[in-house]
This record gives sequence, C-alpha cells and structure tokens, in this order.
Amino acid sequence: QGIPLHEAYSKYSGILRSVFRFKQFRKNQLEAIAATAAGRDTFILMPTGAGKSLCYQVPAIVQKEEKNAITVVISPLRSLISDQVAALVAKGVKALGITSETNDSVVYKSLFSRESRPALLYCTPEKIQKSTPLHNGLVHLYRYGRLALFAVDEAHCIFTWGEEFREAYRSLHTLRDDFPEVPIMALTSTASPEDVAHICRRLKLKNTRVVRQSVNRANLTYAVKHKRRGELFDDIIGFLEESHRGHSGIIYRTGRRQCERLARLLAKKGIKAAAYHGGLTDQESKSIHIKWKKGIHRVIVATIAFGMGIDKKNVRFILHCDLPKSLENFYQETGRAGRDGKPAECVLYYSFQDKKTILDLESWSQDGRANPALDDKVAKVVQFCEEKSICRRVLLLQHFGEAFDRKDCGNGCDNCMHRARLVSRDFSAEARLAIALVQGFENGTRGNITVRQGVELFRGRDTLNTRKNGRRHNMHYGAGAALSHDLATLIFDRLLKLNLLVEFKVYTNGSKYHYYIKVEASLYT
Ligand code: ADP
Ligand code: ZN
Repeated sequence: QGIPLHEAYSKYSGILRSVFRFKQFRKNQLEAIAATAAGRDTFILMPTGAGKSLCYQVPAIVQKEEKNAITVVISPLRSLISDQVAALVAKGVKALGITSETNDSVVYKSLFSRESRPALLYCTPEKIQKSTPLHNGLVHLYRYGRLALFAVDEAHCIFTWGEEFREAYRSLHTLRDDFPEVPIMALTSTASPEDVAHICRRLKLKNTRVVRQSVNRANLTYAVKHKRRGELFDDIIGFLEESHRGHSGIIYRTGRRQCERLARLLAKKGIKAAAYHGGLTDQESKSIHIKWKKGIHRVIVATIAFGMGIDKKNVRFILHCDLPKSLENFYQETGRAGRDGKPAECVLYYSFQDKKTILDLESWSQDGRANPALDDKVAKVVQFCEEKSICRRVLLLQHFGEAFDRKDCGNGCDNCMHRARLVSRDFSAEARLAIALVQGFENGTRGNITVRQGVELFRGRDTLNTRKNGRRHNMHYGAGAALSHDLATLIFDRLLKLNLLVEFKVYTNGSKYHYYIKVEASLYT
C-alpha cells in the first residue's frame, strides 16, 4: 500500500504544521502521501475542495530537502498555475510556474542551479511535450536523479468529452516512456470507475494505489426546475432576489450572445453581472476574473469556458439555463459552488423543448457523423432531468459508481422534497381534474394550451393567458386552486411522464412553434 502510516505521519506532519500551518491531515491525505512516498504510482480521486494539492506538495518539500529533487506539476490553466505558485511562495516554498507568459530561460536556469532549484515546478501539458526546452531540461535532471514526482492535476482533461479536453493531456504517457523511474500521481475530482481505469491506462500507470474518496458534496443542494418559454428571466430574478440576495454565483448558458443578453438584463435590474465566454480577449477575461474574485461582479453569466481554476470559495449558487453536455460537466460546474463548505444551491432549468432540440439535432445528424459517445452523455443528462422520484444526489453519485447509503439526501433536493410531499397526500383526484381540464380544450373553440397555461388555468389564476379566448370558461378552471405553482406543475409533469397527457408541436408562423398538450387518445376508449 505504501510506507506505514505512522512512519509517514512522523516524517510529513512537521511540514504540514510548519509550512502550511494546518493541525491535521484531512481524510486520505496521509494515505496518498504514504503511497507516493513508497515510490508508487497513485490516483487521487477526491471532491473539489478536499485538499488534493497537499498530497504532492508536502512530499515535494521533503524531497527537495532530502535529495534536492523537484516535483513537476502539470496543470491545465495559467490562472491555476499562478494562483498555486503564488500561494506556495507566500508560505516560503520555492515554486515556479512555466506558462506562455513566463520568461522560460530564467526558469530553466534555475532548474540547474543548486541554490535556486524549486521544490515544485508547475507547467501546462503543452510545455512539457517531447523536445520542448522544458522536456530536454527534465531529461537532464532525470539523469542526475533529481526528478521526484510528476503530478498530473485535473487528469480528467484527457477525455475528449466536455470542453476541458486538451490534446496535450493525451500525450502525457510520454512521461512514463521518457522518465520510467519517476512515480506519477494523477489527480481529479470527477471520474467514474471506468474513467479511472482509462486514465491509468492512458498515463501508463503501474500497480497504482487508488485513493478514492466519496465525491459527494454534502453542502450542495440540487434541483431541476422547469424552464418555461418566456419565463426564464423572471424565474432567475426571483431566484436571485428571494434566495440569494447579495450572493455570488455563476449562471451557465450555452451561447455567447445569450450570455451577453442575460448579463445586460441582469445589470438593468441592478444586479452586478458580467458575461464571460470564449470570445473575450485575454485582457477582458482577466479583468472579469479579478473583478469576480473581488466581488465587484456578483454574477457571471458564462459559457463553460468559465470555470476551471476559479478558486473562489464563497460561490453560493450555480444556475444551468441549458442542458449541460454530460453529467460529468454538470458535476464539475456545480462543484464550483460552496468550496467554503457552507450551503450552496445548484439549479438546472430543463424543458421538454431542450430535449426535443437535442433529439432533432440527433435525428438530423443520423448520417453516420453523429458522435455516439456524446449522444449517450446527453441522454444521461436528459434521464437525470426527467427522473422525478429518485434523489438527485443518489442519481449523481450512482453515475460516478458510488452507492449512497440513504434514500433521502436530507438536503432538500427537489425530488426528495416532492417525494415527501407526494407521499403525504394522494393527488389522484387532482390529477383527474387536470386531465379533464385539458380535455375541455379539445373541441378547438378556445384554442390549444401549453403546460404553463394549463397550470395557470388549473390554479384559477387571473392572467392575460387565462383570460384569452375565454379560456376561463373551462369547467375545471380553478379546480386546483389550493395547489402551489410547483405542485400543480409537478402534477402536469407526472401526467406527461406517464403519457396520460402528451405534447404536440404546432407551428404558429414560419419557424415559430409551440408545444401544446392534449389528452392521450387511448384514455377516451
Ligand atoms: P482540491 O484541489 O482538492 O480542490 P485544494 O488542494 O485546493 O483542494 O484545497 C482546498 C482547500 O483546503 C485549500 O484552501 C487548502 O489550503 C485547504 N486544506 C488542504 N488540506 C488541509 C488540511 N489538512 N487542513 C486544513 N486545510 C486544508
Ligand atoms: Zn435528495
């Protein structure tokens, strides 16, 4: 497994106290250190914020003291590198970063001088590819036995799914080819058991000690809410004002233009928001990062380009306005909330429309060019959204190959709340009335209705929608007046899920269309 834990403790806990000023190792840190101290390859799977970095930083300092050897950390982002290096330097640890912005020759020189050789050298995967100056330098150090460890941070970046994929990560197997004696540590917060095996194979790890810790983020609350056409903005404002006044958070949208538009609308409402996406210049994105860290921007409306490497602890909410590309993405993106351990809320807005858009795209690309792996990932997200009874946390952890020992996460995810409410009462009478209400619209004189209009009518709301076309004269108008909006919506959604109600698409003018609802034909017989 590694060197005995008590031995590891007596050897490494001094550094933990004197350099990092922490009293104790956290769960699994010592196990990881003991394994790498024995020269083994290690795979560290711990949730965000658990303290992965310490697993290589503490041994690195000891290796430097004992052997004057360096630990090379491969990290995907400049901003991550500069944050980590600055934090170490502030603690008096010799650390250097090589990015496209640093003066490489100064860095290389320091590698070969006994006095200035750093304990930790951070670089991007591109900088360490074969026959780069850094690679050549490391070959030299290797000959003299001065390479202690390669730490591959955010190791999931080798996967082609998701936006974080980096081609250079995939060629990191050359580390094993070119430096066979140097142990490797891979670290990530997102990996299913198959992913772990895949990463180990790709990096050519041997006899690997996998230190795996539950990826459950107990302080995050998950919910999937209904994204209704034309209501998303009001819902977001409501969410920000009611639950997150003054809090920082990230809103994810897929399109650049959508990000800018939403940020502008929020700003109009007096919410300090900025848009962030791949179309910004380096200068612009840097400035947004800084203002966000300082709390000048309270809300960032971003494409997935914003995310990795944001070390802001007090992010209180993450909103997804569109379907994430995969559950891994969803986990990573929501993982940016609550890094201080305090409660944070993650809401995904989902609509049948989103699903249909994806299905349309899918059928459109059925000419052999479709990416089946990607489709499968998206299908899993849709499944996750449509599930209305199993706890969200259970679903997520299941996806990462983890069993959760309780049925109820105890942290108010929408499904747990709904279950609690639904079992407390029998809603079949209300469900029947809702069906009858929809049926009342099928003779055509009062026009078709959407789910949202159905809910409003059912609850007997007095709105433009319910007044239109004399819709309120439906016999069952107001039959569900005692129900909350959420509960009434839930009943309609259940009916759709059970295929008692069905949606159908009607083009209104040109390419514009609505989804209306009707009663499933077989119910009439
Ligand atoms: P991860 O990489 O797993 O997301 P980090 O390595 O960035 O997490 O650590 C998260 C935070 O926890 C950091 O602020 C770090 O200083 C702190 N931390 C790590 N180990 C300990 C420890 N043993 N005791 C107290 N704080 C710790
Ligand atoms: Zn739950």
